[in-house]
Amino acid sequence: MGRNTRNGTVGFIGLGTMGREMALNLIRTGFSVHAYDIRQTAIDDLTAHGAVPAASAAEAVRVADIAISMLPDTPQVEQIVYGDGGLLASPPPGRLVVDMSTIAPVAVRRMHADLKAAGVGFLDAPVSGGPMGARNATLSIMVGGDADAFARAEPFFHAMGTTIIHVGESGAGQTVKLCNQLVCGINIQAICEALALGRASGIDLDQLRNVLLGGSAASWMLEKLGPAMIAGDAAAGFRIDLMLKDLRLVQEQALSVGVPLPGTALVTSQYVEASAHGEGVNGNQALFRVYDRMTNHSGRS
Ligand code: NAD
Repeated sequence: MGRNTRNGTVGFIGLGTMGREMALNLIRTGFSVHAYDIRQTAIDDLTAHGAVPAASAAEAVRVADIAISMLPDTPQVEQIVYGDGGLLASPPPGRLVVDMSTIAPVAVRRMHADLKAAGVGFLDAPVSGGPMGARNATLSIMVGGDADAFARAEPFFHAMGTTIIHVGESGAGQTVKLCNQLVCGINIQAICEALALGRASGIDLDQLRNVLLGGSAASWMLEKLGPAMIAGDAAAGFRIDLMLKDLRLVQEQALSVGVPLPGTALVTSQYVEASAHGEGVNGNQALFRVYDRMTNHSGRS
C-alpha cells in the first residue's frame, strides 16, 4: 500500500466496526498491536491476524508506546481511564493515550487534565470516513491536545488515515467531529426528503441519484449510502444509535456555548423516531424508513 514499515507497540482497546480495521492497519504497517475488547471473539479475531491478545486494558498497554481506544461513548472511555486498573493508574510506558471514539468534549478536557497531572499525554482524535475509510486507511483524523503529544502520535495516525489535522487544544478534535456529524445528519435528512419526493412523484430513484451526484447536490452520503437507501438495505455500518449519540453531543455542546441549531434539533427528532421503531442497530441509511412511515410507503419489509 506504499506505507512505510514502522516499529512501535500499540495497546488497542475497542475492536468493533471501526477499531478492528484500524488495528489491522496498524499491524499491516508493522506496529505490534496488543488488543483488548470486552468481547473475547473480537480479541480472537485480531489475534488470528497477528495481534497479541490482552485480558484487560491494563495488559494491552503494559509494554506499549501508545494506548489507542475506539469505544462507543463517553462512559466506556471514562471506564478504561478511571476504572479499576485503568489507564490513569496503569498508563503505557510511552505515557501517551489517544482516544479516537466520538465522545463529549467536556469529558475529554477532564481526562486530559487528570492524565497530564500524572505525566501522561492525552489526545482526542475522532475520525470520519466510516468503516470503508477505516478499512482502506483513508480516515480523516481531527486531533485536539498538546503539540508534543500530537507529534509523537502522528506516525500511528498515518497507518490509519490520510487527512490528519491538529485542530487545537484538548477537546477541539471532538468539537470538529461534532460539526462534521451535524453536517452528515442534516445531509442524510435532505437526501431522504429528495428520495421521498421523487418516489411519490414516480421518478426512478437510481436516475435521481445519478443526476444529483453529477451536480451541486452531490455528497459523500448520497454517493455511499444512497444505494442502500434506495434498495431498502438497512444493514449496519454506522449505527442509528451511534448517530443519535453524536447528535445528543452536538446539542449539549451547542447549549454550552449558546448556539441555536434548529436544523440539528429537527433531524435529531427523526433519529429518535427511528430508534423508537427499533432501527437503532441499523445503519444510518435506515433514516429513510422514517420517511417510509411518514409517507405510508409499504413497498418494502
Ligand atoms: P462498535 O460498537 O462497533 O465498537 C465498539 C467496540 O468497543 C465493541 O467491540 C465493544 O465490544 C467494545 N467495548 C465496549 N466497551 C468496552 C470496554 N469497556 N472495554 C473494551 N472494549 C469495549 O462501534 P464503532 O462503530 O466501531 O464506533 C466506535 C466509535 O467510533 C464510536 O464512538 C463511534 O461514534 C465512532 N465512529 C464510528 C464510525 C462508524 O462508521 N461506525 C465512524 C466514525 C466514528
